[in-house]
Amino acid sequence: MTLEVNSECVFCKIVAGDLPCHRVYSDDNVFGFLDIGPVSPGHVLVIPKRHFETLVDLPAELAATMGSVLPKMAKAVIESTGADGLNVLQNNGVCAGQVVNHAHFHLVPRVADDGLGYRWRAGKYEPGEAEKLCEQISAALAL
Ligand code: 5GP
Ligand code: ZN
Repeated sequence: MTLEVNSECVFCKIVAGDLPCHRVYSDDNVFGFLDIGPVSPGHVLVIPKRHFETLVDLPAELAATMGSVLPKMAKAVIESTGADGLNVLQNNGVCAGQVVNHAHFHLVPRVADDGLGYRWRAGKYEPGEAEKLCEQISAALAL
């Protein structure tokens, strides 16, 4: 299979074997390896082997393939680390914290009181705002 690679991309280099990693999973389309800067022990990155910058760029079939791998990867990470739970994090764009421009899912094992926290400032819609957003997103999906 011909892979689309970006010669500047650190994750493409890892997939190609040009940079070392601690690989935990590999199939025709998907690759999993330990994050070099783990948020917690067992922090795994799951990536497509082909180079796509963000989630939005993934062909639907490849996204589905990745989705089918995630549950078993999450289960393996939880079971092998003895975690109580796990966060799946997926950053798209600099403003969202994406540093490596090759789409990836973070699997971060969690235990109670691990001190990692979870910051999520819940907001509130102004009257009519939710309805408008609902319409806009539904319309975009119908395109
Ligand atoms: P982002 O902020 O783009 O969502 O996450 C990129 C992740 O890639 C970071 O957690 C970072 O530690 C990890 N990372 C960056 N370079 C390398 C590398 O060369 N090897 C591995 N294993 N992980 C890397
Ligand atoms: Zn890449």
